[in-house]
This record gives sequence, structure tokens and C-alpha cells, in this order.
Amino acid sequence: MQTKPEETRREQVPKDGGSVLGSLKKCVFVLGSALLCLVAARNTITWHVQGLWKASDSFWQHQWGLVYDLFGEDEHLLGTLGTLLVPSLVFWLVNGSLLVVDVTGQPAALLRYKIQEEKNVPVDPVRLWKTIKLVLFNQFIVTGPLVFLAAPPIFHWRGMPCGRELPWFHWVVVELIVFVLVEEVMFYYSHRLLHQPALYKRIHKKHHEWTAPIGIVAVYSHPVEHILSNLLPVAAGPILMGSHVATVWLWFCLALTTTSISHSGYHFPLLPSPEAHDFHHAKFNQCYGVMGVLDRLHGTDEQFRHNKAYDRHIMLLGLTPLSWSIPDKPKASKETLACHKTSCHESSQMSCHGPMSCSQTQDKNQVPMGKTE
Ligand SMILES: [Zn+2]
Ligand SMILES: [Zn+2]
Repeated sequence: MQTKPEETRREQVPKDGGSVLGSLKKCVFVLGSALLCLVAARNTITWHVQGLWKASDSFWQHQWGLVYDLFGEDEHLLGTLGTLLVPSLVFWLVNGSLLVVDVTGQPAALLRYKIQEEKNVPVDPVRLWKTIKLVLFNQFIVTGPLVFLAAPPIFHWRGMPCGRELPWFHWVVVELIVFVLVEEVMFYYSHRLLHQPALYKRIHKKHHEWTAPIGIVAVYSHPVEHILSNLLPVAAGPILMGSHVATVWLWFCLALTTTSISHSGYHFPLLPSPEAHDFHHAKFNQCYGVMGVLDRLHGTDEQFRHNKAYDRHIMLLGLTPLSWSIPDKPKASKETLACHKTSCHESSQMSCHGPMSCSQTQDKNQVPMGKTE
């Protein structure tokens, strides 16, 4: 059962709801300018990388040839079954590894990277099974028929880009950047739409059952949300660009991996920061976007930017967890609280100050800066 104040907090709409149109104009201007600059500079940027790529070009072309043969040179099958199965396989490989840590708590050394400490350690098996069932339903019962129905006409419309020859490297890079921008815009606004009270209650509340999410929660949502907010923003870019099926697979795998990391509940070294979306699950009305550009423009990251989580919203380059090097305010221990309740400084020196003073007791709870254990 949810308490009333929580319920109200969940359905709260950001205060800038009235200025969405104005912010949208600003956003189109900023993103449009960025895209123009990028297109203008793309040859310079990618020329150097293309040199490196050429060395491994034949390697990737050979690998793709093997996949192409595996599907019996059937481009219809590549565009449908391949597009459904390859990203799903990558999703379960990534999340299978995360689930080992969530369920067993092993390797214990990884638990130090938990964002919301002690939440879902270990994860409740009943709740986990319920989540897995809905994830599988969304992936195969909802997405499966959609892919088989929609992919053939879309690929046909875009000139069947499912051939044996891979696209140029620099074109793949340009396309990936376009996909990221399209996803940011479509995900942000569809996500904010889902936070409108009427839609939240009926649809998005399901996804927010997890206030401290785990990786597979990325696809734990009402089927309507799965289509509107998970599939469409990710598929729109490739449809717009008429991308090669190999680029589509690459993008779907990247998108599923990054959203799994965002929901994982762990801030691991050398991976993209999951702090913003974890904060969204904890606070409900902050950080709606993927990259944070639109949240900044709309001011929907105001609380986040005044929270320690924002300081931790960077890629961790060492082994020391950011929750240790940038801790939240230390919580007073029960002993210290009891001490202050009974006017510590005026009452018994022995009971409170004993061998350890109030301030020392509090310090005991702080994780020392730069702790590396
Ligand atoms: Zn989420
Ligand atoms: Zn949400």
C-alpha cells in the first residue's frame, strides 16, 4: 500500500508545465544547431577514425558475412527475427550478470557500488519473478508481433537496407548521433506525458513500483508505455535515416545496455552514470530525459542539481565508489540521537560522552574520504 503523501508526490507535475512550448522552441534551436555543426564537421571528425576503422573493416565485414549466411541470406528474416532476437539476447546477457549480484549478493565487492545502499540486497524473489514475467511479456508478446508486422514494410519502404555489405563507419557514427538526439526528444516528452496524473495512475505507475530499480526494470512497464516510451523513441531514428539492419541491431543493443545500466542501481567504474535515472525513480518528478539536456532546458533537474547525487553524476574512473568519496550528509546514529534527545551536553557525562564524545560517535558513521577498501 502506498501512503497518501507518496502518492501525491508521484503524481506531481513539474512546475514549468505551462512553458513547455517555449522550452521546446529553445530545445529545437539548441539541438538543431548542434546537428548542423556536426554534419558540417563530420568529415573532419570521422576522417581520422575511418583510418583506424579501415584496418578492422574487413574483420567486421567478415563477421557480418557469417551472420548473413547464418540467416540463409534471407533479408526478411534478418530484418524481423534477427531484429527481435539479437537485442533481446544482449539484454539478457547484461541483465543476467546484474541479476547474479542482485540475487546472491556476490561478488560482495561489487555491493559497495550500490547507489541506494541496502535497497534490494538481496532482491525479493517473488517481486523479481513478477518483474521477469512482465519483461518477457513486453519483449516477446508485445514487441514480437510488432516487429514482424512493422519491420518488413518499413525496410521495404527504406529500400531493404539488409544486405551483405556494411555501411561506412563515419555514416554509422553520424546515424548513432542522430538516434541519440531523436531518442532524447521523444523519450523526454513521452515520459513527461506519462507523468500526467491520469496517465500516471493507469500506465506509468507500474514502472515506478521500483523506487530503487534493478537492471531489468528498464523493460518493466505497462505495454502501452513499452510501445510509446521504450520502442518508439529508439526505433524512430533508424526509420528516419533508413539505416542498415546491422546499424539497427547495434543501436538497439547499445540502447538496451545503457537503459539497463541506468536502472541497475549500481554506479560501476568506467560505465555511464546511472545517478540521474536512479534519482528519477527515488523522487518521481526529476530527471525525465536520457542525457539530461532537456531536463536542464525545462528545469526538471532543479532538485537533482542541488543534491549530492548530481556531484556523483560522472563516469567513475577509479575503484573508490563515488558514494564514499562524495557521501550524502552522514546520518546521526541512534546513540547520538538519543544522546541529543536527553540534552547530551547538560546530562550525564558518562552515558553520552563516555569513552566517545557525541561528535566522535557521529564521525564513526562517516565514510572517510578516499576510502579504498
Ligand atoms: Zn525507469
Ligand atoms: Zn517516470
